[in-house]
Amino acid sequence: MPVLCSSCSHKRAVLKRPKTAHSLCKECFFWAFEEEVHQTIVAAKLFKQGERVGIAASGGKDSTVLAHVMKLLNERYNYGLELMLLSVDEGITGYRDDSLETVKRNQEQYELPLKIVSYEELYGWTMDAIVKQVGLKNNCTFCGVFRRQALDRGAIMLKVDKICTGHNADDVAETVFMNILRGDIARLRRCTDISTTSEGEGVVPRCKPLKYAYEKEIVLYAYFKKLDYFSTECIYSPNAYRGHARTFLKDLESVRPSSIMDVIHSGENLSVREGVKMPVQGTCDRCGYISSQALCKSCVLLEGLNRGLPRLGIGKHHRLHNKILSQQPLTEKEEKKLKSVDF
Ligand code: SF4
Ligand code: ZN
Repeated sequence: MPVLCSSCSHKRAVLKRPKTAHSLCKECFFWAFEEEVHQTIVAAKLFKQGERVGIAASGGKDSTVLAHVMKLLNERYNYGLELMLLSVDEGITGYRDDSLETVKRNQEQYELPLKIVSYEELYGWTMDAIVKQVGLKNNCTFCGVFRRQALDRGAIMLKVDKICTGHNADDVAETVFMNILRGDIARLRRCTDISTTSEGEGVVPRCKPLKYAYEKEIVLYAYFKKLDYFSTECIYSPNAYRGHARTFLKDLESVRPSSIMDVIHSGENLSVREGVKMPVQGTCDRCGYISSQALCKSCVLLEGLNRGLPRLGIGKHHRLHNKILSQQPLTEKEEKKLKSVDF
């Protein structure tokens, strides 16, 4: 006998919600998913009427669902937002060039303006060229640091008040684990925040409307809505550390689906005891971007690339940073250390 939808009780259920285990028909699932995102937005007061909001769009499932749902809720509930898509082209042949084609189609499908900023134009380096120099072990460090700044620069060009990103509940829970495993207390404290306030000049506030949406539900939503998204993994994606955190979380989820929400909840309620040393936020002497050191991570990484010393920004080399930046010569041993690359 067909199972009936536990919400409307008259249509046939086509799926079991990963988050609640309710059997639902397609329409009731769409409604439940969209309403939860709406509740998240309202409860956290993520937007104000009249704001210009940039949606960070990669062409992947999360950001495609985010763009679709943001447009829909903006119309359904009269948020009064001016939405636009913002993409970063990291310069990864065979991956980002293809996914950007998806974003360009999304731009037409959703009738939203699109701005693409590229690493090549901002930094003079594509990820393809960076990987040639730094190898496949630390490439995601370069990419992550550059992306954060690239999104801010793009947001400033678009004159948006806020950026929203497609981070989902699984991403947030994974990040909680990673920060615990690394002992990164400063990041642990802020990684469950649903939005950031402007941390300074050149930094645009960000928010995560899908913070409580399970990845499995995002996939189901995109699938049943037949959304046009790109699902290939980055060709330079080793990121083994996050991979372990992800596998661990997926194992926990298969035993107890609420694990994802429970980890987020734990992260949200942690507090840091008084007296724990935290980095002091200042600005980069070179580019003016926020930084807890004299130079921001992006400028250090770039300096390393331009000098053929790729390890300069990897690990703790603050003494050597200062030496290089004040134009003091390096010893042969120091030079060798900063040149070595793990492929
Ligand atoms: Fe960049 Fe690494 Fe992500 Fe690829 S996997 S897009 S290199 S951060
Ligand atoms: Zn800088």
